[in-house]
Amino acid sequence: MKLCKFGGSSLASAEQIRKVCDIIMSDPKRKYIVVSAPGKRYDDDNKITDLLIALANAIHSGYSGSDEIEEICSRYEDIARQLGISDIYGDVIRQDLEFRIHENRANRLALTESLKAAGEDNCAKLLTLYLNSLEVEATYIHPGEAGLELEADARIVQATDESFLRLSKLKELSGLLIIPGFFGYAKGSKQILTFSRGGSDITGSIFAAALTVNVYENFSDVDGVYSVSPKLVRNPHPIRELTYSEMRELAYGGFSVVHEEALEPILRLGIPLNIRNTNNPSYPGTMIVEERFDYDSIVTGITGTKGFCALHFSKYLLNRETGFIAKVLSILADLDIPFEHMPSSLDSVSIIMKDKVFPNDKERIVRQRLYEELSIKNVKVERGYAIVTIVGDAMAQTVGVAARAVSALSRSGINIEFVVQASSEISMLFGVKEAYCNYAVTELYKTFYSYSGV
Ligand code: ASP
Repeated sequence: MKLCKFGGSSLASAEQIRKVCDIIMSDPKRKYIVVSAPGKRYDDDNKITDLLIALANAIHSGYSGSDEIEEICSRYEDIARQLGISDIYGDVIRQDLEFRIHENRANRLALTESLKAAGEDNCAKLLTLYLNSLEVEATYIHPGEAGLELEADARIVQATDESFLRLSKLKELSGLLIIPGFFGYAKGSKQILTFSRGGSDITGSIFAAALTVNVYENFSDVDGVYSVSPKLVRNPHPIRELTYSEMRELAYGGFSVVHEEALEPILRLGIPLNIRNTNNPSYPGTMIVEERFDYDSIVTGITGTKGFCALHFSKYLLNRETGFIAKVLSILADLDIPFEHMPSSLDSVSIIMKDKVFPNDKERIVRQRLYEELSIKNVKVERGYAIVTIVGDAMAQTVGVAARAVSALSRSGINIEFVVQASSEISMLFGVKEAYCNYAVTELYKTFYSYSGV
C-alpha cells in the first residue's frame, strides 16, 4: 500500500483537486491520503493557513476577524461549487470557524491551534465529500480521534510512541482514508496541537510508519530534488535517487523539499519517500531510500546557506587541558546558544553558529565569561559567513573529491575560511564569506557536473 501526501498547491483550487483525485484513482495501492490546507493559486495569493493565523491574531487583538473569515469561507465555497458539491459550502466553514472561536475563547493558545488546524481539517472533509460524490469509498479520519497524540519539547512537536500502535488499527478500515495533516491531540488531552509550518509532511510520515506502507509519496509542485537550486543554475541535474542521510544534509543546507522533521518516522522502518509532482504525475520524481547501490555522480547535491558567524579563540597548550571545551560549551548552553560546527587546531577553536542565535548582547556576555572563567583573551567574532556544502554518499569511496572542490574554489579566487568534514564523509562543508556563497555553489556545480553555462 502507498500513502500519498498532497501539499497546499495541489489543493489550492477545484482544478488542482481534480488532478489529486485522478492521481489517487489511477493506482489502487494509493489508500491513505494526507492533505495540507489549500495553498496559493498564484504568487500573490494567500495560503489558507496564513489567513487562519491572521484570524487568530485579529481575535487576540480584540477584532472580530470578519474579513479573514469571509476570505477563508469564499475560498472553500468556490472550490465546493466548482466541484459540484454545494453552492453554500462557505456556511459550513463559517459555522466550523465560529465553533472553534467560541469553544476556545478563554484559552489563547488553544484558539490559535484550533484555528490553524481548520485549514487541513476542512480540506480533508471537502476532499472526502468530493470522492464520495464520485461514488468512491472514502472516509475522513480525524488524526487526534484516530490516536495521533503529540508531545512538545522546547524545540519540536512529535508523536508519542503509543500513537503508532493506535494508528496502525486504521489498516482494518476499507476504502480510501482521507487524513488532514498538520495536527493531532496534545498528549493526555483533546486539545489540538499543530506541528511547525509545513508540518503535514510530518503527519504523512507518521501515518506511513504506523500503517507500514511500502512507499510514502509526497506530492507538491516540483518534479523532484535537483542537484543544485534551480534559482542558481538553469536546468539543473535532477536527482533520481538519494539516501535519507543525503537528504538530511541537503535539507540542512537549504533544500526545502520536505519538512526537516519528516524523515524520522519513516527512517526507522526504511520506508522510501517518493517526491512527486501533482502537475506532472507521469514523472517518476525523486526516490529517497535507506541505501543506494548505483550512483550517477560522485556528488549528489550542492547547497549554500548564508547567516553564520564564528567565535574564534585560542589558548596556548589548549590541547593539554581536559574539559576545557566542555566549559566553553556550557557557557553557550547557559545562554541557550546552539552551535553548528567546531573546527579546531592545536591551540585554537572556531565555534560556528547561526548568526541569529548569537546577537551582540549574548556575544558580550560570552566574551566576558570566557575571560573571567577560562582566562581566554584572544576572542574574535566574525559575522557574515555562508556554508557551502557538497553532499554525496559516494564521496567516501572516491579519492580526490576534496582536492577537486578546493581547487575549484581557489581557481575562482574564493577564500575558504574553514572546512568541516565528519567521519561519515557524506558531506564536506566550506565556510566562505556570504558574498561568495552563490558563486561558490555554481563553481562547484560546474566542477562536479561538467557544466559550462550558468
Ligand atoms: N498548512 C500548513 C502550512 O502552511 C501545513 C502544511 O501545509 O504542511 O504550514
